[in-house]
Amino acid sequence: MTKTKNFNEQDLLRASETLKAHDNWSVMAHRKADGDAIGSVSALITAGLNAGKRVKWFGADPELPVTYSFLPHYDRYIYRDSLSFDEPGELYIFLDCSNENRGVQGFDVSRNINSLNIDHHGDNTLFARENCVDSLSSSTAELLFRVLYAGNWEITKQVAECLYTGIFTDSGGFTFSNTSALTHLIIANLIESGVDSAHITDFIIQNKTPEIIKLWTYALPRLKLFGHENIFAVVKIYADDFDRAGTDISATTGLPNLIMTLRGVKLIATVTENPARNGEVFLSFRSREQSPVTAWNVASFMGGGGHQRAAGATLKKANVDEAASRIEAYLLSHE
Ligand code: 5GP
Ligand code: MN
Repeated sequence: MTKTKNFNEQDLLRASETLKAHDNWSVMAHRKADGDAIGSVSALITAGLNAGKRVKWFGADPELPVTYSFLPHYDRYIYRDSLSFDEPGELYIFLDCSNENRGVQGFDVSRNINSLNIDHHGDNTLFARENCVDSLSSSTAELLFRVLYAGNWEITKQVAECLYTGIFTDSGGFTFSNTSALTHLIIANLIESGVDSAHITDFIIQNKTPEIIKLWTYALPRLKLFGHENIFAVVKIYADDFDRAGTDISATTGLPNLIMTLRGVKLIATVTENPARNGEVFLSFRSREQSPVTAWNVASFMGGGGHQRAAGATLKKANVDEAASRIEAYLLSHE
């Protein structure tokens, strides 16, 4: 695992100063953007607009998941496969993005691009000119709060709602082991800034469409438990499941965490065929502390990465059954 340099409190203020020193921002997050990616981007865009910045939001997903359409500036999102990263005076900001290949393409690390990378992935490659990376943060939103707080940026109710969304989703609703006392202190601060937590969580989790549930009912009977005392679980999801359910790839959000609620299970994988791109297979992994291998171990074996206990990979030309077999063989050989 690429080791990130030790995080330093000074990185917070330095990141804030860099944001203040630039009037034009292009903000991006990782592909297959989740609640932390979108919550962090919308928080920063909102704070930037409040401070008179000109901001653009780019991303490599054709569309963002509708779940997060309640967040401010969701409509500003612009889909771009690649950018030239050469606008004079522009600050290119990456949030929740562990390396330059996980988002909009075209970022050449050798060009010393005017860029800022704020992230909490332990395998972040520190690819930007300036990096504020703390792998102990539950979420990029938690770290971004500390950047904004360090620089005395106003945390309006809108900004607070975005940050709350990011922290809530990446900490599994404050249930994952990345949830710290500081996480809760920051959440308390966000609630004091006006967040109605019950109202926001209604948007984030009490919002499943019948189509999403239908997709899960196709996938779950395929759940395979294996290994000593059934500590491993794999679920396969095919393109045809999405067609029959009448939904898209974003409908898998939350499914890995649901499978992780199974008693005795230590590591789970979902293997999903992208219904929108032939041959593309998404892998998601989650693991518990007692697992003989971490989610990160198996994700990196499959060519991806992420966090120790929540990781993933994207396979470009693959087959769901073959990918699942490789994962199963890896897990069984590492028990
Ligand atoms: P999810 O299963 O929710 O899609 O992803 C879990 C975690 O793994 C997230 O932090 C996500 O950013 C990371 N992740 C997912 N796919 C990849 C990948 O292909 N490469 C890397 N480095 N991280 C990934
Ligand atoms: Mn994150």
